[in-house]
Amino acid sequence: MASKSFDMIVIGAGPGGYVAAIRGAQLGLNVAIVEREHLGGICLNWGCIPTKALLRSSEVFHLMGRAKEFGLSAGKIDYDLKAVVQRSRKVAAQLSGGIGHLMKKNKITVFMGAASLPAKGKVSVRTDKGVEELTSKAIIVATGARARELPGLEADGDLVWTYKHALDPVRMPKKLLVIGSGAIGIEFASFYNTLGADTTVVEVLDRVLPVEDAEISKFAKKQFVKQGMKIMEKSMVKQLDRAKGKVTAHIETGGKIEKLDFDTVISAVGIVGNVEDLGLEGLGVKIDRTHVVVDEYCRTGVDGLYAIGDIAGAPWLAHKASHEGVMVAELVAGLSPHSVRPESIAGCTYCSPQVASVGYTEAKAKELGYEIKVGRFPFMGNGKAIALGEPEGMVKTVFDAKTGELLGAHMVGAEVTELIQGFVVGRQLETTEADLINTVFPHPTLSEMMHESVLDAYGRVIHM
Ligand SMILES: Cc1cc2nc3c(=O)[nH]c(=O)nc-3n(C[C@H](O)[C@H](O)[C@H](O)COP(=O)(O)OP(=O)(O)OC[C@H]3O[C@@H](n4cnc5c(N)ncnc54)[C@H](O)[C@@H]3O)c2cc1C
Repeated sequence: MASKSFDMIVIGAGPGGYVAAIRGAQLGLNVAIVEREHLGGICLNWGCIPTKALLRSSEVFHLMGRAKEFGLSAGKIDYDLKAVVQRSRKVAAQLSGGIGHLMKKNKITVFMGAASLPAKGKVSVRTDKGVEELTSKAIIVATGARARELPGLEADGDLVWTYKHALDPVRMPKKLLVIGSGAIGIEFASFYNTLGADTTVVEVLDRVLPVEDAEISKFAKKQFVKQGMKIMEKSMVKQLDRAKGKVTAHIETGGKIEKLDFDTVISAVGIVGNVEDLGLEGLGVKIDRTHVVVDEYCRTGVDGLYAIGDIAGAPWLAHKASHEGVMVAELVAGLSPHSVRPESIAGCTYCSPQVASVGYTEAKAKELGYEIKVGRFPFMGNGKAIALGEPEGMVKTVFDAKTGELLGAHMVGAEVTELIQGFVVGRQLETTEADLINTVFPHPTLSEMMHESVLDAYGRVIHM
């Protein structure tokens, strides 16, 4: 069969891949995209979107339980897990379907099948109907990642789950162990705990949400414990003994092993890149553990071959993937885009309370040798937070004392995942404290706390 030729071929239709394809098409390139499973990738089908749909249900459930506080009454407050999950799957399907429309609208040729790279400039696609051979001078690998499985702690879909099982559960856990307190682990812990599961989180490092600023981790932990979660830090799950309907976890803390029983375990110990079966090694692409090694423009070192998104390493975030997609498509089209700066990419965790941050933590800024100024503002001092009934939270900002540059912003509390973008724009524009202090923030909004936190760093806080 004759091979089909394209200006650009994208492998993987997650946020990295489909955004690269659209940007390429906008720039007049003849683009093909290959996807082996589902348009929208993990993000739309098994990641960002369906988790947020589940968390919305648990949030509403929690608020209904507080009805009286708001002068309202609600009858018997209950949930139907099957319906909650159905809604989440429907939202995922709706968005995944939307990607199909976008491909059509942008005249992007979609091949549903598994791709591999038999030689430089060539892509072979195994579809239901046979093999398609494609060629292009520019190939973007955006094959994403999957859950990491640790020996002995592997998921079985019944007693031990990965995020996929947890998104479409076989039952409501009664006694739940979550291994790992990164964003994925803590979001599921938050969801199931709010719906009533007796939830324990085990974290091997010294604090939950270990990539966040230490003060934010501490604050969030206090709230999780208040909500009934058990948090075991500096602890490691060494072994899982599986029996009928029961898992006994051997958890080591400070050299001592405790054996605890659970009916469900969610393993959220990280992800591994989908680097296998593509033929990357044969082309001379460097792979570090499970990630393709790339430069700041996502170039692999093999002419015309790029890797973007989760397969190209941390931060493992959809918006990092899609931004890299835009950048590489522009490179392929002959433009001169900016490289993506990892330190200006915000991280958001949609647990309750939410956590969001951008830039350096206080500890990192000190480690890098900055002389810093730090500002803090509590939700308790903000009118909108009180009106919303959300008085628990804080906004923290870190500045370079010499230049006034905003080095980092860290937040915990209601809706902070929506607020953080204000500081992201600030960092992108290399904003200083003076710009932020002189900015007028609308009242009453939670965003006023961002202003107050900056004012606090410079000894000018008003409402505290
Ligand atoms: C439970 C969970 C919650 C998350 N929540 C968030 C969040 O709130 N915010 C956020 O920013 N990030 C979140 N993430 C991370 C986010 O999903 C990823 O960072 C993002 O999906 C990465 O995009 P990508 O394009 O690199 O890859 P993916 O979305 O993983 O897409 C890769 C695609 O490539 C396809 N593929 C793989 N191999 C081949 C092949 N050989 N041939 C053809 N196709 C192939 C796969 O089928 C897949 O569709 C979450 C992840 C999980 C698991």
